[in-house]
Amino acid sequence: MENINKPLVVITGASSGIGEATARVFSEQGFPLLLIARRLEKLEALNLPNTICKKVDVVEIEEIRSAVKEAEKVYGPADCIINNAGVMLLGDVAVQDPKEWKNMLDVNVLGVLNGMQVVLSDMKDRGRGTIINVSSVAGRKTYGDHAAYCGTKFAVHALTDRAREEAALAGVRMVTIAPGAVETELLGHTTNEDMVKDYEDWKKEIGGVLRSEDIANAIWYAYNQPQGVNVREIVIAATKQEP
Ligand code: NDP
Repeated sequence: MENINKPLVVITGASSGIGEATARVFSEQGFPLLLIARRLEKLEALNLPNTICKKVDVVEIEEIRSAVKEAEKVYGPADCIINNAGVMLLGDVAVQDPKEWKNMLDVNVLGVLNGMQVVLSDMKDRGRGTIINVSSVAGRKTYGDHAAYCGTKFAVHALTDRAREEAALAGVRMVTIAPGAVETELLGHTTNEDMVKDYEDWKKEIGGVLRSEDIANAIWYAYNQPQGVNVREIVIAATKQEP
């Protein structure tokens, strides 16, 4: 096992956007990392020290489990998992392809639950650990064209807070991060071009949205509190984002 004086941190969806920025922040702080996504080449291109990169689909719990086991053999038990991988496919429920709903539910909800279950029993046994789930302001209130996406993010808020209550006495922390709009690749997967254009126009109108680094810093703030302090939720958006 490597002799590094900081524990292992696992980040899903680290190949771009918020996950990538979070990987950089935790690496700068000296943490060994397990980075997970499907685009392995993008994880490896980050070229971070003391980092294991694994091509993993978060929908497949056994893929996460074997990546975590492998990283724990090198760096010791995971002290934190940041379940950040997610997809946003905006659409009108009346006409949206149901395959898009399934994709969002699989990645945004089951992917988060999978990441939680892989580490939670060991964290409870050790009496410490932190699970940070990236939800959205769309997990607290609703937005036009966001019905199915909001459904998945409301679920992340609910499952994180209930699981937090169930793990609290074992000493495990759970944090929900709820960002407003952030400039990342996320919007690029929406197939309705008019919705993408409206969203891009709105971002310009308000003079731009948050950077991935802003969210990474919020995640670091929550994790960096003493283990006895659980920042339950951080809601963070551009000042000029009204809704
Ligand atoms: P990006 O599209 O830039 O990043 C999404 C990440 O998720 C990528 O690394 C992608 O990697 C990964 N991912 C997607 N599907 C899977 C999968 N099946 N298995 C493993 N990894 C997967 O978007 P963001 O950085 O913006 O998104 C990160 C999180 O932040 C998401 O949960 C999103 O809902 C949330 N969020 C984003 C906001 C925004 O405005 N950008 C606002 C509020 C919340 P790969 O494709 O290589 O697998």
